[in-house]
Amino acid sequence: MKITVLSGGVGGARFLRGVRAHVQRSLPHAEITAIVNTGDDMWLTGLRIAPDLDSIMYTLAGENDEVRGWGRVGETERVSGELRAYGVGWPWFTLGDLDIGTHITRSHWLREGVPLSEVTRRLTSRWDLGVRLIPATDDEAETHVVVDGGDLHFQEWWTKHRAALTARAFVHQGVEKARPAPGVLEAIAEADVILVAPSNPVVSIGTIIDIPGIREAIAVAPGTVVGASPIIAGTVVRGMADVCLTAIGVATSAEAVALHYGARSAGGLLDAWLVDDADAAALPALEAAGIAASAVPLWMRDTDTSAQIAADALAVAAGVGAGIR
Ligand code: GDP
Ligand code: CA
Repeated sequence: MKITVLSGGVGGARFLRGVRAHVQRSLPHAEITAIVNTGDDMWLTGLRIAPDLDSIMYTLAGENDEVRGWGRVGETERVSGELRAYGVGWPWFTLGDLDIGTHITRSHWLREGVPLSEVTRRLTSRWDLGVRLIPATDDEAETHVVVDGGDLHFQEWWTKHRAALTARAFVHQGVEKARPAPGVLEAIAEADVILVAPSNPVVSIGTIIDIPGIREAIAVAPGTVVGASPIIAGTVVRGMADVCLTAIGVATSAEAVALHYGARSAGGLLDAWLVDDADAAALPALEAAGIAASAVPLWMRDTDTSAQIAADALAVAAGVGAGIR
């Protein structure tokens, strides 16, 4: 069995850890591939930073800081202190020393002309992740946020301004020229199930399916597409995704996000959608829109709760697939 997951960073990483646990317990021969958002990537102090790829790599490697919620465990920040003293970089964007090791390695290979997908393969080969990570694209297509009076890199808007400047639009710069990274279209076409992680619908999942060719490949993929809602009872659980949804005119609800993605039978992304038990009232409207919907617990408290979400998503996929074929 082949499982392909569309994923952002921290939320996607928690979900992937659950998918991996479920596969290890119940589907030992299944292969998991994650197609990862690169819209948050950027050059900073001469280094290429890829926050979502790294969040997933560290989490699956067991090297992530569970308490802080991002970055490496046991991290120190001596290099960032030096950069601040020299006045380079973003003083509000601290990179840990171990993390900088990853960025130096990535930047070194990129400067040798190695594409990001191959760089990612090399970086991740250090650990037994149990998931193949592929960047959505090898091309640099960064998310910018249009605010009154100008536009900012997504990271500046998100981290420096804590999403407090009203976003008028999200612009995925250069996306029209970006191509899916090698392996992306194959991972979509060959998947038995495509899972949409409970990641930010705008700046994680939205930026992946924006890359020319990816949405089109999903539209005709033979596998079943099942998403899990990042919104529970009208809140984002963690983070600030609600601000992104508001900016594109989508309500912060499990139902509105699913309708925004749309039913694949009507030109959208989804065959099925998991909402949290708290959002069970949304099921009839989703079914009416052509999206098979189920209510299950969607809080990813630990690996077991995430694994149960993966199991539920695959069970729904099996049911939908049986109905279609
Ligand atoms: P980022 O790239 O680091 O921002 O991470 P993602 O885009 O992958 O995921 C962020 C989203 O995950 C948040 O906006 C939340 O809505 C969602 N999220 C975080 N924790 C949970 C959880 O326990 N359950 C569910 N269903 N969603 C979650
Ligand atoms: Ca991200």
